Amino acid sequence: MTQTITVIRGDGIGPEIMDATLHVLDSMQLGLRYEDADAGLMALEKHGELLPATTLESIRRNGIALKSPLTTPVGEGFSSINVALRRHFDLYANVRPAKSFPNTKSRFPDGIDLITVRENTEGAYIGEGQSITEDGETATLMQKVTRKGSERIVRYAFDLARRTGRKKITVVHKANILKTTSGLFLKVAREVAAQYPEIECNEMIVDNTCMQLVMRPEQFDVIVTTNLFGDIISDLCAGLVGGLGLAPGANIGADAAIFEAVHGTAPDIAGQGLANPCALILGAGQMLDHLGKPDEAARLRKAVVATLEAKDSLTPDLGGSGNTMSFAKAIAGRL
Ligand code: ATP
Ligand code: MG
Repeated sequence: MTQTITVIRGDGIGPEIMDATLHVLDSMQLGLRYEDADAGLMALEKHGELLPATTLESIRRNGIALKSPLTTPVGEGFSSINVALRRHFDLYANVRPAKSFPNTKSRFPDGIDLITVRENTEGAYIGEGQSITEDGETATLMQKVTRKGSERIVRYAFDLARRTGRKKITVVHKANILKTTSGLFLKVAREVAAQYPEIECNEMIVDNTCMQLVMRPEQFDVIVTTNLFGDIISDLCAGLVGGLGLAPGANIGADAAIFEAVHGTAPDIAGQGLANPCALILGAGQMLDHLGKPDEAARLRKAVVATLEAKDSLTPDLGGSGNTMSFAKAIAGRL
């Protein structure tokens, strides 16, 4: 069966890293078909809107999108197109792998291979109950955690572990202080964990988690946590393995999933062939996992590792003198 993927080329370095990523995917001959759809500045110029209905329709129809970074211009009705996409498709799971790769500027040369599963729809980021007194002296904000929201994210993390042979889940919380919200999340997480006896589950308070991640990151396998903690921890983890150029992310819902690079549009280097395409290529790897092609995903990651190991045609951010496409060709050549 051929699978069609909605491809959003995006803004800034987006088109360059997408060309590179599609070159790598094409070399794998998986029979994927691409359907181009616009979003961001590019869409605003072509269609007069940042997130055209045809783009939403394409993602809805295909259920899968590969997306480059997007620019959200200030004052165009959205605070962020990415957030609008998450809301529209109820993409409740933000999945961010962090893995040590050879020849990157990481403080930990190897031993890190963890995934952060962040709840993406509730917690402190619901945007409700925000108020500030007239004198500007007191501000409040509401957090919301639900049983349903907690259960589906924790279940997602355990199913991911089961599917990919991972052994341990760490539930990250602050239930000692945030007794209601974090307390409910932890309670539900314990109930779900009991249904997966073959997977080890431990609990860790978020502040201690940050310290442990920096001191002994190799102890972690899969982390599952609420929105705000997950936001911070997943960036911390990207930093542990050498920064943004290698960090992919997936936003997954019941009916649609969007795969991307974690970094932004990098306008400072756009159009010069300097952008490292690895993060989006690894995002495509997550997409292959999601499409039920774990062997192909592993093959892709192996080719990325071998290319980094050989320092073959790497981009300047990795100390190489290659460019976006030469890097992609070096990876494709190893597939
Ligand atoms: P945005 O507003 O879209 O987030 P930004 O300028 O903040 O854009 P980021 O992607 O967050 O862009 O980039 C931060 C820094 O990291 C920039 O200096 C950028 O050049 C660099 N950078 C980001 N992604 C890459 C990449 N794939 N390859 C090389 N350098 C990158
Ligand atoms: Mg940025």
